[in-house]
Amino acid sequence: MIQFENKLIAPCGMNCGVCARYLAGLYELPKQGVKITVCAGCRAGNRNCGKKSCSPRRKHELYFCFECGDFPCDTIKRLDKRYRTFYRTSEIKNLEIIRDHGITAFLKQEAEKWTCPDCGGVISCHNGVCFRCGVEKLKKKKPFYRW
Ligand SMILES: [Zn+2]
Repeated sequence: MIQFENKLIAPCGMNCGVCARYLAGLYELPKQGVKITVCAGCRAGNRNCGKKSCSPRRKHELYFCFECGDFPCDTIKRLDKRYRTFYRTSEIKNLEIIRDHGITAFLKQEAEKWTCPDCGGVISCHNGVCFRCGVEKLKKKKPFYRW
């Protein structure tokens, strides 16, 4: 079973550990012939999410978006809808689990959800492919960011 790190969970509740760009870096996919830009995760890259007007995040006043008086704001609602529609993920639900049950319980649930049954690698929420044993599949995947 995989074990995600706390710091991989973005302020919005996205688990960067199942993001295609993060996994591409983890499993060194560019070296294996997959054309993709890699990312170390939203927190590691100090990314500002989609919301440029979000001053609490810009000023690092909160660690997770549920600590905000505006939660859930329109920006996270839009993101959540896109992820529920295409990527079998709900950032808002993720945050509610973290808020109500703690990060450890959430990480355990994520590990159960995304561990590849064939090789123990990580399946990406962005297309349902294991980025460890599915490299050949990923080379042919079109569109890449769809299940
Ligand atoms: Zn696998």
